[in-house]
Amino acid sequence: MGRIRVTEVKTFLVGGSWRNWLIVKIETDVGLHGVGEATLEGKSKTVEGAVVELARYIVGQDPFAIEKHFQEMYRRAFYAGGEVLTSAISGVETALWDIKGKALGVPVYELLGGRTRDRIKLYANAWYKQGMSPDEFEMAAKEIVKLGAKGLKFNPWGGRPGIDFYRLDNSILNTGIDAVAAVREAVGPDIDLYIDCNGIFNTAANAVRAAKGVERYNISFFEEPVPHENLDAMAYVRSKIDIPVATGERLFTIFSFQQLLERGGADIVQPDMSHCGGMLEARKIAAIADSHYAAFAPHNPNGEVSYASSVQLAACVPNFLVLEHFPPEPWRFDVCTNPMVVEDGWLEIPDRSGLGVEFNEEAALEHPYEPIDLYNLHRPELQQKTPRYADKLR
Ligand SMILES: [Mg+2]
Repeated sequence: MGRIRVTEVKTFLVGGSWRNWLIVKIETDVGLHGVGEATLEGKSKTVEGAVVELARYIVGQDPFAIEKHFQEMYRRAFYAGGEVLTSAISGVETALWDIKGKALGVPVYELLGGRTRDRIKLYANAWYKQGMSPDEFEMAAKEIVKLGAKGLKFNPWGGRPGIDFYRLDNSILNTGIDAVAAVREAVGPDIDLYIDCNGIFNTAANAVRAAKGVERYNISFFEEPVPHENLDAMAYVRSKIDIPVATGERLFTIFSFQQLLERGGADIVQPDMSHCGGMLEARKIAAIADSHYAAFAPHNPNGEVSYASSVQLAACVPNFLVLEHFPPEPWRFDVCTNPMVVEDGWLEIPDRSGLGVEFNEEAALEHPYEPIDLYNLHRPELQQKTPRYADKLR
């Protein structure tokens, strides 16, 4: 096979329901193209600018030399890291894997070690949009389990009126605990429950109080109990609670994850495929986690391309745990086809080449960019914009 060359890098901002997806499409001189996703919630236009600057390097290159290109885009750029640059690199790097997989006629997971499993366990997020009382949580939990979910994630405290990053009132703490109790009662003992704090506790002691309040409900992980900047605080919380700690959606590259795990800061790492530096970087992060007996469960709230790259990693990473799932926008599969097969909350590993998706430029243009921010303390606003689960997970 003669050398392929990159000829063009295109970006598409697609107005998803509560964040804009930034799709990177890379064209080559043999007619093959690949797609990646660089969505950074609330900052998509900023990252788009970074992709445009990376294009100066990547146009004219051989798309197969992915490790070399990561090193050039990250290491040789003098300013290394930060979520804007690593998201931009993630979009470009993923598109190169899509090209390489298509050119060789294999799914990307075949190039990252091959399958370690045949199906992937999913858990549902954004199923609890009805309101935040324990009764409303209970009703919503029963509904989503009927649609096949085997695991449910939720934040029982975030978005409640009066919540404050630095103060945890007993009234809010207790209502959140009651909501967790109601969900456990509604779904029975065998459904896995995951609590996401979204980093709302800016004092480690309050994060510990919250965890202690829900420990008795057999919670499978407690996510971002404190914000992501202080890894020692994360490790402190983990040392004090009897629930596995998950974190990493706001950490990037092998370096942050090495420091997190070295301090004892996590049982489960959650790199985001649109942010962490790309598919090979995610594979390395998973390996670092494995060496600390920690599991890998990618953060997966963005567009269909990011979902597809998460599935590729879930297929090959031995210490993969479970994959996040959000209800899709009704038009989502017009913009990006991704014919996944999901049965009873488990996704069959696809065998299409590359990422296995087809991005439709014309359909994408029908959903233009909309300015929107991502706020931690105002989650009900985001919840109102998020689509509802209309049928089974897919
Ligand atoms: Mg989270």
